Amino acid sequence: MPELPEVEVITRELRERLIGETIDDVEILWPKTFINKSTLQPAGKSIRSIGRHGKFIIFNLDRGSLFTHLRMTGKYIYSVEKKERTKHLRVIFRFKSGRYLYFYDARKFGRIFFTENPEEILANFGIDAMDTAFTAEKLFLFFKNRKRKVKPFLLDQQYICGLGNIYIDESLFKSGIHPDTPCLNLSVGRVKRLYENIMETLNTAIGNMGTTLADYRTTGGGFGSNQHYLQVYGRSGEPCIRCKTPIEKTVSGGRGTHYCPKCQPLNGALK
Ligand SMILES: [Zn+2]
Repeated sequence: MPELPEVEVITRELRERLIGETIDDVEILWPKTFINKSTLQPAGKSIRSIGRHGKFIIFNLDRGSLFTHLRMTGKYIYSVEKKERTKHLRVIFRFKSGRYLYFYDARKFGRIFFTENPEEILANFGIDAMDTAFTAEKLFLFFKNRKRKVKPFLLDQQYICGLGNIYIDESLFKSGIHPDTPCLNLSVGRVKRLYENIMETLNTAIGNMGTTLADYRTTGGGFGSNQHYLQVYGRSGEPCIRCKTPIEKTVSGGRGTHYCPKCQPLNGALK
């Protein structure tokens, strides 16, 4: 599933290519994919800016916004020419310039919303993990007095938005924190280290154009390369890169979770 880095790479590519384009037509091949929450239509509107919040790609039009959540397998492919319609094609944006943006989605969980009230989409989502207002101090305040386990808390998009399974596992490993550690057990120093590792993990992944494990592609159809640099995610049974102990896989927050039992002890001294 694409997380913040993959969505950021896609957003940057779309921004480079589509600012100023005017939508000529939106053809919806799978009705559930496209939800119009407005009485207007996106056709005839121009793209003013393209942003991201958490895992949402946001096209701001001269009136209204298009919010896209890729969910499991959603994929935008940009093309200067018309492409053949294939099985998983769900929505086609045709621009007045004659260019196209294709939305493919094998599993059909991805959604595109057209709205004039961005707040109604973002109401249940917290601060973006790369927002400058998200700091180590803010993370510490989130954790303070909270008995919830750290991994499910970081997965919960209503507090911090954009983090998902891969990058949480990687950040907790780098910080020596067991995924089941109650948030309130983490010291100021440990939270600061976790914050720095989250930032470093996200920025490295963006630099590597994201992690392609299955479906994720850039808008030109290319692969990310961050999968070659993962330290714990998807490595269960393989030796820890630090201590050689086999990486374990468990379930935390309902998600498959990878960690080193030696480097990330549950009752370790969390200074
Ligand atoms: Zn280890």
